[in-house]
Amino acid sequence: MKEQTKLKLLHIFFPNKCPCCHKAISATKLFCEKCEKDFVYPTGERCEVCFNKKEFCSCAKRPKFYFRSLSPFIYQNSAKNALLTLKTMKHKRLAKFFAEKIVADFDKKYGDVKIDAVIPVPLFKERKKQRGFNQSELIAAEIAKIKGVALNLDCLTQTEKSRSQHNLNFKQRFQNVSGIYKAKNIPIECQTVMLVDDIMTSGATMNECAKMLRLEGVLKIYCVSAAKTE
Ligand SMILES: [Zn+2]
Ligand SMILES: [Zn+2]
Repeated sequence: MKEQTKLKLLHIFFPNKCPCCHKAISATKLFCEKCEKDFVYPTGERCEVCFNKKEFCSCAKRPKFYFRSLSPFIYQNSAKNALLTLKTMKHKRLAKFFAEKIVADFDKKYGDVKIDAVIPVPLFKERKKQRGFNQSELIAAEIAKIKGVALNLDCLTQTEKSRSQHNLNFKQRFQNVSGIYKAKNIPIECQTVMLVDDIMTSGATMNECAKMLRLEGVLKIYCVSAAKTE
């Protein structure tokens, strides 16, 4: 069955809704017209490592274990609303949408880089069980498919529960995630990897995961997220 026909049939039983504003939309659309135009993109000159605007670069004060990072969107308006939806439902089309944007931006900047594996930032086992899925894994799986690269779900795990990062300052965020991730059994050929998260805030989570991967022999880590806070 053609993809479009499948979507239309599905629509009869499960009316399609915009993942940002939850208004009903036609079966073939992913967003309503208003929300489609309401994405905020990163602007200005940015640090290649932490992806902050140059004037807010934190790399001199806090060196990073990852090599580069990027996000196609700023965590505001439509990207924020869509990512909140992706936390509550396994929305494959939405994950694919973010994956396509990430890959487009990545290939534009680093198209000649050979990635050996795509690795999602893991969720604590119980949290994943509660939620039924890991939203970063959904995006990572789509990236791996588009790039034709292996998805590795085994080598990075979250071994301790983290406190919410919400009310923590920059320094506390780094301390809060310290030691809660473990890396093991990394295939020898995994030298350059893409680490995937849904949202990048201070970069503390990415940095801690990158540190663990580096300790286990990964050489270069490109961190990608659907959206970056600003
Ligand atoms: Zn909408
Ligand atoms: Zn920086």
